[in-house]
Amino acid sequence: MIRKFLHVTNQLRGRPAFLALEALLAIFIAVPQLFADEPYARTRDYDLQHSKIALRFDLDQKKVLGEVTHSLSVLRDGTGKIVFDSAGLTIQKVTINKATAKFETTAEKLIIPLASEARAGDKFDIVIRYEGKPTKGMYFILPDKDYPDRPSQIWTQGESEDTHYYLPTYDYPNDRLTTETILTVPASWITVSNGKLISVTDAGKGLKTWYWKESVPSSTYLITAVAGEFDEVKESWRGIPVTYYAPKGRGDRLSISYGRTPAMMELFSKKLGVDYPWEKYAQVMVDDFVAGGMENSSATTNTSSSLVHPKLAPEYFTGEDDLISHELGHQWFGDLVTCKDWGDVWLNEGFATFLEVVWTEAHFGKDQADYERWNNAREWFANSNLWNKPIVRHDFDDSSEFDGNAYGKGGWVLYMLRHQLGEDAFYRGLKHYLEAHRGKNVVTADLAKAIEEATHTNVDQFFSQWLYGAGAPKFDLSYSYDAEKHQVALTVKQSQTVEGRVGLFRAPVEVEITTASGPKLYNVPVSKEKQIFPLPADSAPLMLLFDKGGHILKSSEFHKEKKEWLYQLKNASDLPDRADAVVALGKMKGDEEVVAALGESLRSDKAWGVRATTADTLGHLGGAPSSKLLLAALDSNEKPWVRSRVVSALGNFKDDAAIVAKLNAVAKQDDSYRARAAALQALGQLKASTAFATLEAAVNADSPDGFLRNAALRSLGSLGEEKAVPLLLEWSAAGKPIDSRRAAINSLARLQKDNQDITKQIAAYLTEPHFPIRMAAIYALGGRGDATAIPALEALLKSDDLSIEMTPMIKGQIARLKKPADGKPRANSGYGDTDEESAENVGSENLTTEQRLEKLERLLQEMSERLKSMEKRLPPAKPQ
Ligand SMILES: [Zn+2]
Repeated sequence: MIRKFLHVTNQLRGRPAFLALEALLAIFIAVPQLFADEPYARTRDYDLQHSKIALRFDLDQKKVLGEVTHSLSVLRDGTGKIVFDSAGLTIQKVTINKATAKFETTAEKLIIPLASEARAGDKFDIVIRYEGKPTKGMYFILPDKDYPDRPSQIWTQGESEDTHYYLPTYDYPNDRLTTETILTVPASWITVSNGKLISVTDAGKGLKTWYWKESVPSSTYLITAVAGEFDEVKESWRGIPVTYYAPKGRGDRLSISYGRTPAMMELFSKKLGVDYPWEKYAQVMVDDFVAGGMENSSATTNTSSSLVHPKLAPEYFTGEDDLISHELGHQWFGDLVTCKDWGDVWLNEGFATFLEVVWTEAHFGKDQADYERWNNAREWFANSNLWNKPIVRHDFDDSSEFDGNAYGKGGWVLYMLRHQLGEDAFYRGLKHYLEAHRGKNVVTADLAKAIEEATHTNVDQFFSQWLYGAGAPKFDLSYSYDAEKHQVALTVKQSQTVEGRVGLFRAPVEVEITTASGPKLYNVPVSKEKQIFPLPADSAPLMLLFDKGGHILKSSEFHKEKKEWLYQLKNASDLPDRADAVVALGKMKGDEEVVAALGESLRSDKAWGVRATTADTLGHLGGAPSSKLLLAALDSNEKPWVRSRVVSALGNFKDDAAIVAKLNAVAKQDDSYRARAAALQALGQLKASTAFATLEAAVNADSPDGFLRNAALRSLGSLGEEKAVPLLLEWSAAGKPIDSRRAAINSLARLQKDNQDITKQIAAYLTEPHFPIRMAAIYALGGRGDATAIPALEALLKSDDLSIEMTPMIKGQIARLKKPADGKPRANSGYGDTDEESAENVGSENLTTEQRLEKLERLLQEMSERLKSMEKRLPPAKPQ
C-alpha cells in the first residue's frame, strides 16, 4: 500500500488526468504525524494464533456488530492480563474459556484481567462481543438521496494500524494468525475475505452468511472483509481460483484491466522459485477507496478507478499493470514474509515496486522497464525530503514511513542488487530468503544473511550504504583524451555533501567508450571523493557513457561538449542514455542545432519514452522552432501516450494564435481522448481568448466516464474567467458524478476569491457524507485563502462522523487560512509545511499561489504520464 506522492500520479494514470490537485496539495502541504505508527515491534505477552471473526452490519447507522473468538497462547510466565487494541468500539461482553470475564477499556485498548497469573504456553479462547461505528478501518459506501443508484459497498483497510477500529485485536505486524471470517449480509450481496470460501448459507430475514477460512497465517493488518453489490469474473491459475470483482454494473471492465493477472502469477512464481502461496487470489475493486491498492492476504482491494472505461483503456500503454503487479508481488513480500516492524517496511514496498518492473520487463520489454526506472530515479531525486533519510529507519515522527524511500528507492536498490549479483544469483538469494522466512516476520538483516547464504557473496557494504545510509551519489564527471598515449583520463567526483547518514558511495561502474572503431566496455570501481581513471582508447572518443544503461541510482553532471550529447542522443543503445542526452540538451537554450536534433528524436527515436521526454523538453525550451516541431508531431500517428504529451507541451507557448487554433481543433475532435483532455488543459493554461467557449462545450458534452468534461472543469480554474462560475456551481452540486464535482469544486475555489457566497457554497460541501467531496472542499477552501471559511472548517472538526484521518488535514488548511496578511507563514503554526516549502517541493520559488497552483497542475499533468507507481492513497491516511 502507499500513502504518499506516488499514488497521486497513479491516481492520475488510472483516472482522468488533472483531477487530483487537492490530493497533491494534501501531500505538499504536510501536516504533523498526529497518529504516528509504532516504529519498533512490540514486546509480546501472547501469540494470537487464530481468530474467528463474525460480523453483521447495521446499514442505516453504518455500524458493525461483531463477535470475535481469539485463540491465543501466553508467551511469558506471570501474565496477568490480556490486552487487545480496540478504538471506538463498545465492548458488550467478554468470555475467557467460556466464562464471563471482567474487562476495562481505554481510548486505544481493551484490557482483560486473567483470574490468575498465566504461565507461558497456557492457551485461552477469548470471545468478545462488540459493536461500533468505525471512523477508520471499515468504510460504508451506500446509496443515499443524492446517489440513489450507487452500489452498496462495505470494505476494510487495515494497514497500517487500523484493523482495531473495527475489530478488537493485536494490531501490529509482528504476530501471525489464521482466520475464519463469517459475514452476514443481505442475500443479494457478495462478500470477499481472506482464504477459501467454505459456504454460503441462508441466515433468514433476507440475509445470507458467507464463511471464509484462511489456513495460512498472516498479520492482522492483512485481514479484509468486503461486502456489497458486485459483479464477479472467475478465472484460474494452476487450479487456484482467480477472481475479480467490480461494483455492480462495471463488471464488463474487469477483464480489460485485470485479465493479465494469471500471467503475472506464473511469471512471479517462476522467477522467485516459490509458487504463489495462497489458496486463491481475489481482487476486489471498491469505490472511494482510501488507498490505491491493498495487498490483503489472498484478497487484494483496489480502487475502482482502476476499472478504466473500455474506450479509454487502449489509451494507456501499460494499463493498470503497475498496480496489479505491485499488489500481487506483495502476496510474497509483505504477506508470506512480513516486515517485523514499520521501520523495515521497505521489505514489503521495495519488493512490490521492484516486481512491477519485473513484470514490465517481461511483458512490455526492456525499453519500458528502463523508462520506468529512469523516471523513478528522477522522481526520487526531485523529492528532497527523502535525501537524508535512510530506507531502514525508525524515526518517523515527522513523516510517514510509507515514503519514496520505501517504494521508489527500495525498488531501485533491489534492481541494483540484481545487476551486481547477476540474475541467477539474485533470484537464488530471494528464493532462499522466502523459503527460510516463509510465514515469519523479518528485518533487513535477514535478507542480507539469506543472500549471503545462497550466493556466498557478502552484501554488507552494499546494504550499509544503500539501506542503512541515506542519499545517493551525485557525480561530477569530465574526461580528457591524450592522443599520444591513446588514453582517456576520466575524472569522477562525488559531489554530494557528506553529512549525517549520507556518505561517499562505493560502486562498480560500467563505462563505455565509443571511438571510430566501435564501443568498448570497462568496469571502474568508484569509491572516493575524487578519482581519475585512465582508460585506453585508440582514438578520441565519440561518446563516453558513465554507467552505461543507467544501472546505478545517481544524478550526474557530465561536462560534455554539445556534439557528444548530440551523438549520444542519436546513437546510445540504451534508453536511459538517450533520455539523459535529451535532458542535457534541453538546458541549451536558443540553439537551432539542438532543437533540430530534438526534433529528429521526437520523430524517430525507437522508444516512446524518449519521444515523449523530447516533447516535454521542446515545450520547456520554447521558441518558434520548437513549437513548429511539436505542431508537426501532431500530424504523425503517435499513440495517445505520446500524443497527449506533445499536446501538453504546446501549453507552454503563450500568445501564439496558430497553437491556440490547433489546440482548439484537437480539443474538439481527435482520435485520442487523452490528447483532447490535454488540449483542454493547455487552453486554460494559455488563457486563450477562445478557451472558454471550447471548455464550456466540453463540459456540456458527454464522453466516457466524463473524461473530457472533467478535464474542462479542471481547466476552467486555470483559465480564471469569472463567467465560468455558474457552470462550476452547477457541476459542483450534489448528484453530479463525484469526479466531476471534485474538479469543479477545485476550480470554483480559484475564481472570484473575494466572493464569500462562493466560499459559503464550497463550505456547504464539507458536511456531505462523501469522502472525496469533503476532501476536495477542505483543500479548495485552504487554497482559496478566504478566512471566512474558518468557522465551517472548525465546525467540521467537531462532527461526530469525521474520519479520524481528516482531522490533521483540516487543521492544516485552517492554519493556511490563518496566515497573516503579509503572506508570510506563521512561525510554528503547528500544522505542516509552509507554502514556501510546498513550492520548493515542486521546484518553484517565489511564486504566487496562483502560479503555484498552475505549476502544480502542470506537474500533475506531466506526472500523469510519466511517473509510475502503484498504489495511491487519497487522502493520505497518516499525514504525509
Ligand atoms: Zn505496496
